[in-house]
Amino acid sequence: MTFIDNPDEPKPESKTTDKKINSTQEDLSQWGYDLYPDRRKPNNEPKSISGFLAGKGKENIDKIKCERSVYKCVKQSPLVKLMMGALKASGCGIDIRRHISCEECAPSVSGGYDPIMNQVVICQNTARKEGTIQSVLIHEMIHMFDYCRNNLDFRNIDHLACTEIRAANLAHCSFMSAWINGDASPFNIKEAHQNCVKSKALSSVLAARNISKLEAIDAIERVFPKCYPDLEPIGRRIRRNSLDMEKAFEEGYYYGFDQS
Ligand SMILES: [Zn+2]
Repeated sequence: MTFIDNPDEPKPESKTTDKKINSTQEDLSQWGYDLYPDRRKPNNEPKSISGFLAGKGKENIDKIKCERSVYKCVKQSPLVKLMMGALKASGCGIDIRRHISCEECAPSVSGGYDPIMNQVVICQNTARKEGTIQSVLIHEMIHMFDYCRNNLDFRNIDHLACTEIRAANLAHCSFMSAWINGDASPFNIKEAHQNCVKSKALSSVLAARNISKLEAIDAIERVFPKCYPDLEPIGRRIRRNSLDMEKAFEEGYYYGFDQS
């Protein structure tokens, strides 16, 4: 069971229409493992010599670049540091070598969270920019936080919808404020933000599960009133080009997060 995301790519409609979630089913593809080929390998040995010669060199360069960017985010991004502090304060501290993994993924995804391994996956082949890696890190750390705090069952579609709403709200849509503020009427701002969260969460749920769009929308609408106002651990929505990021980081101290 892997929990996957595509923070940057809009997701086309779900291919299958009526697939039911079956908690006893051990079909790994249902949980997104087919999107993370590195997750299935029994070890990290190259599959073939030709693969090693042709592809591995580039893959290794991607990995080194990705790991460098992750390290930089962990050291410098206020929000990533805030999330790390919040996880630690909740008893789920992160060791970046153990809990964050740069990997090759399917081209449709840029990151994911694997609850079995308790690992954040950064897709080294698709998440190349530092800004993208930061947003993937924050997004996946919110899933990690929810999993730590609430003991989520990612096979439960309502649980999945809830944590995707929270990740969209705290990590993604808050960075859309320029677009939202461009809207002529101030009365639309709230609605535009909520719609951003809903559509972003929808694309994440559809990327993670082979369910119909209708089922996904139903789940999102069901849990939205409860999950949208839940701003833990960031405490406020973060707006781009504002001091909110710094403020959220500073306020982290008052919530008792150790950010070291
Ligand atoms: Zn997600």
